Amino acid sequence: MVRVTKDGHEEALGSPFAQLDSHLMLFRDWLHERNTPIPVYGAVVFAYPSQMVEAAAAPHPILFPNNIPYYLRNLSAQPVLDEHELDDLARQVLAAHRPYVQRPLCTMYPQVSRADIRTGVICPECGGFGMRWRDRAWHCVCECVSRSAHIEALQDWFLIFGGELTNEECRRFLGVEDRHAARRMMKSAGLIEKGKGRWKTYHQQ
Ligand SMILES: [Zn+2]
Repeated sequence: MVRVTKDGHEEALGSPFAQLDSHLMLFRDWLHERNTPIPVYGAVVFAYPSQMVEAAAAPHPILFPNNIPYYLRNLSAQPVLDEHELDDLARQVLAAHRPYVQRPLCTMYPQVSRADIRTGVICPECGGFGMRWRDRAWHCVCECVSRSAHIEALQDWFLIFGGELTNEECRRFLGVEDRHAARRMMKSAGLIEKGKGRWKTYHQQ
C-alpha cells in the first residue's frame, strides 16, 4: 500500500490485507481452542474518507466507518449461537483482552536516526517547540507559562525510543542543563528510578 500525502509525497506502508489475514487466523485459532467454530469475516476499515484507496484485486472488503452497519446487515442472517452462548463468548473475549503495548516508533522506522528527531518541550498553548525552563516553570515566546509541559515531552520520548531514559538524555531532549531539575521532572512525570549513581536510569511504570 502506498500513502500519498497532501503535498504529493508517496510513502510505502505495510499491506493492511496481510495484517488482516494474520488477525483473522489468530482469532479463528482462538475460537477453535474454545470449541466455538463460528464464521469470522474480515474487512479493512479506513478511518477517514480522505484516505483514497486504489486496490486492483482486494482480497477483503474495504470500508469507511459509515459503511459498517450496512456491511454487517448483509452478512449471513443465520444465528449460530444462542443468547446464552453469545454472552458467554463475549465474557471470554473480555477476559482474554490485554492492553495494547505500543512498540517504540524508532523500532518501526529504523531508517530514522536519533539526530532526525526534533527535541524540545512543546508549548501547550501555541504548539511551538523549545519552551525554556527558568524559575521552576516552562516559558514560551508566546508568553505561556507551564509547570508541567515536560510531562508530555517525556511521554513522547518513551513513545519514540522506549526502554530506559538517562539523566543526560533527558536533559538533551528537554533542553535543560540542571541535572537536579531534570531528575525532579522525571519523578514528577511518574517515572521510576532504577540503579545507582551514574548508572541510574528512569522507566515508565
Ligand atoms: Zn507558546
